[in-house]
Amino acid sequence: MKLPLRKKIWFAVGLMILLGLVLLAHPFFHLTKTWWNDRNELAPVPAGKANDASRLDETTIAETWTNSGDFAAGEKQLAELLQRARANHLKVSIAGARHSMGGHTIYPGGIVVDMGGFNQMSLRAGNILHVGAGARWRDILIFLNTNGLSVEVMQSNDDFSVGGSISVNCHGWQFNRPPIDSTVESLRLMRADGSIVTCSRMKNTELFSLVLGGYGLFGIILDVDLRVVPNERYTLETLPVASSNYVSLLASRTADNRNVGMVYGRLRMTATNFLSDALLNIYSRKTPPTNFLVSSLKTNSPWFKRVIFRSGVGSDYGKWLRWEAESLVDAKIIKPLFGRENSRNEILFEPADWFLEHGSNRTDILIECFVPPPQFENFLMDLRKIIPANRADLLNLTVRHVNADTNSFLHYADRDMVALVMLFNHPRDAAGEMCMSNVTREIVAVALKNQGRYYLPYRLHVPPEEFRAAYPQAKRFFELKRKYDPDELFQNEFYLKYGK
Ligand SMILES: Cc1cc2nc3c(=O)[nH]c(=O)nc-3n(C[C@H](O)[C@H](O)[C@H](O)COP(=O)(O)OP(=O)(O)OC[C@H]3O[C@@H](n4cnc5c(N)ncnc54)[C@H](O)[C@@H]3O)c2cc1C
Repeated sequence: MKLPLRKKIWFAVGLMILLGLVLLAHPFFHLTKTWWNDRNELAPVPAGKANDASRLDETTIAETWTNSGDFAAGEKQLAELLQRARANHLKVSIAGARHSMGGHTIYPGGIVVDMGGFNQMSLRAGNILHVGAGARWRDILIFLNTNGLSVEVMQSNDDFSVGGSISVNCHGWQFNRPPIDSTVESLRLMRADGSIVTCSRMKNTELFSLVLGGYGLFGIILDVDLRVVPNERYTLETLPVASSNYVSLLASRTADNRNVGMVYGRLRMTATNFLSDALLNIYSRKTPPTNFLVSSLKTNSPWFKRVIFRSGVGSDYGKWLRWEAESLVDAKIIKPLFGRENSRNEILFEPADWFLEHGSNRTDILIECFVPPPQFENFLMDLRKIIPANRADLLNLTVRHVNADTNSFLHYADRDMVALVMLFNHPRDAAGEMCMSNVTREIVAVALKNQGRYYLPYRLHVPPEEFRAAYPQAKRFFELKRKYDPDELFQNEFYLKYGK
């Protein structure tokens, strides 16, 4: 029987709609299920306890001290607090935004100094920001943005405090830059006896190098003079590349390009081609330059971005969906249609909370390793075996570049390094911890084999011998800790595990 043309068209349209619905049904249901189950179950830390971003470190403490007065009065009270702690044989740990994950801000039974109240900021001499150690990057970006300025080196998110960032010696996506210590001109430090000293490359130089990346063991950073840079406008280029060619592609794209401002890579998480494909993202300065740009600041993290990201938890399909959303829909359709331009401040103005676990039964944990660029692919080859063998749920792996660090005593970048930042999700129970412990130890062992190191603010799963192999300067670092703080007033879980 022959159908009339009108019916044939209706039939074809109906078939296409049906096909479209069938194709969309799976992602629609998967994402709706993720969105439905994604409830915020984060409970406040009970009174008398301290915890950190891992939500695995709840510990009983003596008290939490916060500055409730003006800054000068706060300093006086802080000195009195240290005196009281010494008199009562209590240890003192220091907390910024508490995004470290191994009890670095906690000492059992001790006093936690919460630096949040020291958050004043002002500009000095044009490109120097004078800032309280408790200030968060988010507030700093808002302040700098109105002056056409931006942060020179910080993490890829804006939740962290200046004191916490300097004490772990953070790094970010800023291209061709050492860690944050290179941007610190000077800092004021309250020592265990309550005295205040200024440390810089000219004054108290040894103490300066120890405090940069010093994990709160040498004193309390009160405020800092930080070099800042002009806010600028960048154009983003996203290049798909086999991860084995990632380092060489980046080198060729950036060799003669003085306009590269920020760079990061993202690897494919799906079981097929696991960590074999990458997206290389290069932000280049617009020419002519847009120095001292005063732009509007809005967070670039819509709710559906979170849903797509979280849909990868425990689901290879969700990880595939995210990879396709980023490599195809975002890079090839949305960005070309809606623009690839952002100011530097807009890129940095993004909280980590948009992607982190909010459920009470699971947690997101980071591991980060640094390897010399020629070892990148060898290291990945090891990761491709270790992570699936441990059934660890890797949600994200970004790649950054850190230049050699000549400022910090306990440096992780003794030469130019590629940083691999891995975000895992696991249940908040003993089995989850055991899995992460095993996977961390295996990953760190192969980082060391590949002439690399690992980053210290995360879970303390690495045994002391391997810590010392990764950081041969650690023995002297802890001897100097006891020289500058003979009563060992400043302590935390990190010191308890590795300090002796
Ligand atoms: C989701 C997420 C993303 C991250 N991304 C990055 C990244 O892109 N790059 C990167 O380098 N790191 C990254 N990190 C790690 C992060 O930089 C560190 O955890 C950093 O310490 C966070 O700052 P904070 O204010 O939370 O520090 P806290 O966790 O509060 O403190 C960290 C350490 O600093 C000490 N400290 C804090 N304030 C002071 C002070 N005023 N004086 C002396 N000591 C002090 C503490 O005692 C502690 O030892 C990330 C962490 C998370 C959870």
